[in-house]
Amino acid sequence: MRDYLVIGAGSAGCVMAAELARRGAGSVMLLEAGPAETHPLVSIPFGLVWLMNGPRDWAFKTTPQTHAGGREISVPRGRMVGGSGSINSMVWFRGRQDDFDNWGVDGWSYADVAPAFDAVEQELHPVRLTKAHPLSHGLEPLFGNTSPTPEAQSGGLLSHNKTRYRRRSAARAYLRRRNDVEVRTGCEVDRILWNNDRAAGVVLADGTEVRAAKGVVLCAGSVASPAILMRSGIGPKDHLSQLGIDPRLDSPDIGENLHDHPGVGLHFEGPRSGYGLEPAQWLSWALAPLNYALAASGPLSSPTVEAGLFFNARGNSDQPDVQTHFIPFHLAHKPPKYQAKAGYFADVCLCRPKSRGRLRLASKDPKAPPLIDLGLFADDSDLDTMVAGIGRLRELLKDADFGKHRAPEVHPGETVTGEALKTHIRNSAGTAYHPVGTVRLGGPLSERLSVNGVRGLWVADASVMPQVTSANTNAPSMMIGWRGAQFISEEAA
Ligand SMILES: Cc1cc2nc3c(=O)[nH]c(=O)nc-3n(C[C@H](O)[C@H](O)[C@H](O)COP(=O)(O)OP(=O)(O)OC[C@H]3O[C@@H](n4cnc5c(N)ncnc54)[C@H](O)[C@@H]3O)c2cc1C
Repeated sequence: MRDYLVIGAGSAGCVMAAELARRGAGSVMLLEAGPAETHPLVSIPFGLVWLMNGPRDWAFKTTPQTHAGGREISVPRGRMVGGSGSINSMVWFRGRQDDFDNWGVDGWSYADVAPAFDAVEQELHPVRLTKAHPLSHGLEPLFGNTSPTPEAQSGGLLSHNKTRYRRRSAARAYLRRRNDVEVRTGCEVDRILWNNDRAAGVVLADGTEVRAAKGVVLCAGSVASPAILMRSGIGPKDHLSQLGIDPRLDSPDIGENLHDHPGVGLHFEGPRSGYGLEPAQWLSWALAPLNYALAASGPLSSPTVEAGLFFNARGNSDQPDVQTHFIPFHLAHKPPKYQAKAGYFADVCLCRPKSRGRLRLASKDPKAPPLIDLGLFADDSDLDTMVAGIGRLRELLKDADFGKHRAPEVHPGETVTGEALKTHIRNSAGTAYHPVGTVRLGGPLSERLSVNGVRGLWVADASVMPQVTSANTNAPSMMIGWRGAQFISEEAA
């Protein structure tokens, strides 16, 4: 029997397991539902395009979104070692310093979390993109600076957790050189196994029991961690009773507070603009594997999101409330997915959305996908900021230095403004794939990430963020895994 079971080998789970072992907290087994991350498309930066919606993606859908056209929106989540960090765009941001201060949780101010970010960055080595498409350089002059940061209006090439050739995920950085973490793939956890009020192990979806001497750490992400807790009897009592789950601990906040960065994109299309399958680029696509193998350049070496902006939607403050991801590739706005065109894409994502949704179980069957209600645009002000943000983005992009690669906006099209733009956003917005908040710190969790009311059970992943950080969430998720390992090791000592 191992001392600790870590559930979910994602961004946080890999850091958690490796750090528990390095700190000598005890023996560690990491249980992952999906396969290993050895598929070549995981390493190749552009490979994520083919991984999404495949067997390495949980490919969840939301419930019909009441304020977003009743649509069921895609919620991709990595399903393999490395988790969502094995299919993400590798964009690296800590967030704003006051994001952490504003959490208002003891021990989680920016001063408290900064050393954990420092430690994680020593392993992940995020670096500014080299060999970007010329279009991506076009954002650099917009704010007179070349390093985007959510702390100020800014724009330019992004930093990524990749080497010249390969994705450098938490799995690669933390797990590959440790032989003291036993990683078991293909192990989908159903629920916690209890010994009175102590977590004594887990039951897998196939009924197998795996026991732990010291405890269980949930790192299964914002969708699965609350779902596992609920199937284990920890959650809103009435909801669990309705599903025939014995409520062990009434914890009404579990599954609440679900939110994500809403996003909507502008599509630009024109000959010889961005990467695309227009006939003029067929030869370079044919040579792309060689270009990648010999020089780490060309489309296969691109993490897709190459550049970005942070700006104030209404332009009346220098504090950004919007993030733009810039992708110098033609993205189809209607089927078919692959079209013989060239173009580029830029989105408007809200840094600090106000809307909140909730996650609930559909049934106690671990194979049934949970009911994910992101509550998109439940708060009207989010939609207003998106509309203003698109207006400002259109103006900013007019000043971008796109040169001969500039192309016109074809979707929704510059004439779509005001109420029509609002309707367009409701009917087409998605998210930046950053769901958080379902097991928030200061709610069901103590400041040291242990689940209140039981023993030997911790949660450490994106689900614990009380509010989403102002930029991408991978680095903060790893920081949380690192801190969780620190807390658990200190308790074990
Ligand atoms: C397509 C995409 C692009 C993104 N791009 C970026 C980006 O460029 N930059 C950025 O900062 N963030 C990005 N993100 C978000 C970022 O990757 C996540 O916020 C982060 O990985 C979350 O880490 P986590 O540890 O909470 O969860 P995950 O990394 O999702 O890990 C959860 C793990 O638990 C496993 N698991 C789930 N259920 C079970 C179960 N029942 N039993 C056992 N194992 C289970 C999963 O398979 C997975 O491996 C992106 C996300 C996606 C999906």
